Amino acid sequence: MTTTRYRKKPVEVEATQWHQNGDHPKDGPADREGQVVRYFRRPEPEYSGQLKHEPCGRIWHDHGWIDTLEGGHTVCPGDWIITGVQGEFYPCKPDIFAATYEPVASDLAATKATELETTARVLSGLHRSAEDTVTRVIALYEQWVKAGPPPLGTSTARWWDACLVELHNAIQPADQTTEK
Ligand SMILES: [Zn+2]
Repeated sequence: MTTTRYRKKPVEVEATQWHQNGDHPKDGPADREGQVVRYFRRPEPEYSGQLKHEPCGRIWHDHGWIDTLEGGHTVCPGDWIITGVQGEFYPCKPDIFAATYEPVASDLAATKATELETTARVLSGLHRSAEDTVTRVIALYEQWVKAGPPPLGTSTARWWDACLVELHNAIQPADQTTEK
């Protein structure tokens, strides 16, 4: 017998990080019980509201409860709520989520630009033209968000290199910028 190697097809899911009641977009106002993440209710004394859930360090009152295909499940503050391919919901710990998922291309530009904006703020703090630089980087960020993701078929790496050149120009003092 021979074996053939397979790899999982990439599957896109929707996900929301949950911190408190009302955070999931399908849940209503925070002062009412949600449809997706419900109130945490357990009658046993060890789940009394003011007691801590050791793994996350938060009291049970701060937790939620979700119905999954495999039954009910506790939601800790910071857990991600994933909508599966059949529209089902399930929770995922933040470290597992970070190791398993990444933003899809259409959200990549915005994610990268936010990271860069933070970096640029730190860098520009070292220079005298700080305010000016931050203004230019923010303008660039808004331009990228408006432009959206790279067209299909474009190499993401090359598209990203082009973005970095633009950013480099934006960080340079205005009198050294020859374009525009
Ligand atoms: Zn917890």
